[in-house]
Amino acid sequence: MLTTEKMEFWFVVGSQHLYGEEALAEVKAHAQTITDELNESGILPYPVVLQDLAVSADKITSIMKEVNYRNEVAGVITWMHTFSPAKMWIRGTKLLQKPLLHLATQFNESIPWATIDMDFMNLNQSAHGDREYGFINARLKKQNKVVVGYWERPEVRQQIAQWMDVAVAYNESFNIKVARFGDNMRNVGVTEGDKVEAQIQFGWTVDYFGIGDLVQYVKAVTDEEINALFTEYEGLYEFDYGTYSREDWEKSVKVQVSYEIAIKRFLDDGGYTAFTTNFEDLYGMKQLPGLAVQRLMAQGYGFAGEGDWKTAALDRLLKVMSHNQSTGFMEDYTYELAAGQESILQSHMLEVDPSLASNKPKIVVSPLGIGDREDPARLVFDGKAGDGVVVSMADFGTNYKLLINEVSAFEPTVPAPNLPVARVLWEVKPNFQDGVKAWLENGGGHHTVVSLNLTTDQIITYAKLVGLEYVVIK
Ligand code: MN
Repeated sequence: MLTTEKMEFWFVVGSQHLYGEEALAEVKAHAQTITDELNESGILPYPVVLQDLAVSADKITSIMKEVNYRNEVAGVITWMHTFSPAKMWIRGTKLLQKPLLHLATQFNESIPWATIDMDFMNLNQSAHGDREYGFINARLKKQNKVVVGYWERPEVRQQIAQWMDVAVAYNESFNIKVARFGDNMRNVGVTEGDKVEAQIQFGWTVDYFGIGDLVQYVKAVTDEEINALFTEYEGLYEFDYGTYSREDWEKSVKVQVSYEIAIKRFLDDGGYTAFTTNFEDLYGMKQLPGLAVQRLMAQGYGFAGEGDWKTAALDRLLKVMSHNQSTGFMEDYTYELAAGQESILQSHMLEVDPSLASNKPKIVVSPLGIGDREDPARLVFDGKAGDGVVVSMADFGTNYKLLINEVSAFEPTVPAPNLPVARVLWEVKPNFQDGVKAWLENGGGHHTVVSLNLTTDQIITYAKLVGLEYVVIK
């Protein structure tokens, strides 16, 4: 489900006719070498496809129109081999509706002092061309990414790779469809928002369904389907019967198995890639979906609890951006305030994303204090360690705002035998007091998406592309 369309990036190399056909042939050969080596490096997550040289306004315009039209093209990487007059770029750049990366590099790493002449300098004048091209992107407020450095360097390729992941997520943003089973939790403020504005600004479609629509799908799941999927669980998870008989435990787990099958079918039938539930809206359901939701998050569907469609869509977005590695919906729960150990315990009532697990999850059945339903099954595990970002999005009435806090997650060392949910622990940057204070003063929510795979720069790059206000705490 995580899979997006097979995406590629177009490589457009700027020059002009001034230097003659011989020079242009050399430009083309250099561009081909860079294209081939980038593709063979194994660092880029998506292929680069070299286009005709950008030597006229008509050529540039026709390339950019084609980029917009083709679904499989996620964005454009440009490189100024020579001086490419920027007025040629205005029309095409204005038309371009996909992410743009300006690669400020040069074919030769060093200046060949012993042989350099005017012909060489005319052919290799990226420094000159970069400035002409950079000017017009800035004037057009293109919000393009600029990556600077020698194209053979792994750190330069790494920056291109990270931008590619953002660009693919940006494209996917317009395909995100959230199914809301029930409305938002009563009385809660931060999970609300303007759905029309979210569709205009981010491309997210947010649709409501009565829980009864899902109940019909649950009823249609067969025992054969349930038993087949339950068998798969045996190889993946520890079975922890706790105080339940094996029979009662299995009965409870199989309710969640039926939910997994039903929700997945419902989402796929409607083209939905994210969803929400609400424990206050479970008419006709025996349990709050827990294990079922965790399994679907692991498959790449975005999710948030209590009807929080913004966080569900954001979860899906960042899962695409991170290739679903160590990225998921989270909720701030409990502070550790002991001096020198200040941190925050993250969890949810059931639905913690197993992509964050450091150990083999165990399936546990336990009562749920809220929701007035049967004891639900859930996956219990400890979160993995790593540096990352936690992101929250809220509607401030006149605009959406994104909060980005850098965090350091660490594995818990003390067991919590009475805690029947997964737990993730992290320290916030720059330190506990300043980090938490900034989060609260800026109105950051309790529902977040955390990623131990993405960087602050990647989140900012997306925010700029969609004109989203953001605050960074680091
Ligand atoms: Mn919650």
